[in-house]
Amino acid sequence: MEKDKNQIDGKYIKTPKSLKNLWEEFSKKIWKTAVPLVDTGYLYWEDKNRIFINTSLWCEWKCSYCYLGKIWYSNKEITEKKKTAEEIIQETKKIWIWKDTLISLWCFSECRDEMNKPETIKLIKYFLQQWNQIQLSTKKEILSEEIEEIKNLIQYEWQLVIFISSATISKWETIEKGTDSPEKRFNSFKLLKESKLPIVLYMKPILKWKTIQDVQEYIKIIKKYNIQDIVVGTIFTTKIKKEKIPFLRNNKLFYNEETDEEKIRNTLKSIKDINIFTRSSHVMKKYKQKHKEKK
Ligand code: SF4
Repeated sequence: MEKDKNQIDGKYIKTPKSLKNLWEEFSKKIWKTAVPLVDTGYLYWEDKNRIFINTSLWCEWKCSYCYLGKIWYSNKEITEKKKTAEEIIQETKKIWIWKDTLISLWCFSECRDEMNKPETIKLIKYFLQQWNQIQLSTKKEILSEEIEEIKNLIQYEWQLVIFISSATISKWETIEKGTDSPEKRFNSFKLLKESKLPIVLYMKPILKWKTIQDVQEYIKIIKKYNIQDIVVGTIFTTKIKKEKIPFLRNNKLFYNEETDEEKIRNTLKSIKDINIFTRSSHVMKKYKQKHKEKK
């Protein structure tokens, strides 16, 4: 039987509960008891699989859905909450990161704005050489000189994955105030493709009644750049829900699934040969798996 090419998530990662799964669950429990959690804002390290890194804890942009104000940080005023890449690297050396740990660069700022970009590039260079898989999400256009600076340090295919993030196209000027225009940031797809780097459209967060209005525009972008991996991602809320977000210790933010997400996924399914995901980490798992299979 032909494989359904549009399955959501898990296409490559869902396996029946096996001894391997049971072992993973068990080792996660052991890890949680043996290794202390790290949560400094700049670093969030809860289990060996993933670490979140921020070089600053505020943002100069004004996305209407920004959650920084709900978790002690700010996108309203300039603060001094920042660290250099060198300081962060030193801190990561004190904990037990290994080469299998996924490096997630973002969360509490735009990792490629003027303030963060030089530090982000240094972190990328460092972790590429450590063989870690790296993901970053951005609303800023990627420039060819940035790719030039790092591309020779990439150790294997799918090691570095850049998610181009967008929650709206038509209402960008009011909803994602101050960010690069969708047109500008989507230019990055062309460059990433030419540079043979993976490309991911990160439709996140899905904003009720808003993102869905632009779904045909997103389809045009997907077709224009032949994008195969798309995340239809969930907005966060402070209301208590089933699933907490993975980068904060306190139960401050949760995933708040919107019915629009399902509708958007169903519409996107009309495009041939695309993979639709709900979480960026699932994309990274898929790439990791592909890399293992290729070895
Ligand atoms: S880019 Fe991210 S951190 Fe900055 S205002 Fe927008 S949502 Fe907040």
